[in-house]
Amino acid sequence: MNNLASDCLFCRILEKKVPSKKVYEDALCYAFEDINPQAPVHVLVIPKKHISTTLELAEGDNALMGRLFQTANQIARQKGIDQRGFRLVMNTNPEAGQSVYHIHLHVLGGRHMHWPPG
Ligand code: 5GP
Ligand code: ZN
Repeated sequence: MNNLASDCLFCRILEKKVPSKKVYEDALCYAFEDINPQAPVHVLVIPKKHISTTLELAEGDNALMGRLFQTANQIARQKGIDQRGFRLVMNTNPEAGQSVYHIHLHVLGGRHMHWPPG
């Protein structure tokens, strides 16, 4: 049994059926450049396991979520934005702006981030 959902864009990216610009990969996570960057650095970090929203996270996913954040930190260091600052965002459901239903951590940086977010 695999963890991929055939109708999911990010699962298709994981299967290499849709091209992406890889930033990082290991056994559990994949990171790639956002196709429509909202900042000079805009990378998406996803689990290789298909999880549609944060509401579907199970107890067994706790370590995986930690790995997503560790990966985001590593990307921030690699891109040279760790000390300046960066923003990690995960949108859940329509009013938050979630458009792809495979959880993804946005790593945004390289410019001043506004608060509150839009
Ligand atoms: P959401 O709106 O769900 O939080 O974020 C989805 C993100 O995926 C958006 O920032 C959007 O630009 C990005 N995205 C959508 N389709 C593609 C794609 O085919 N390739 C890549 N690299 N990013 C995508
Ligand atoms: Zn998926």
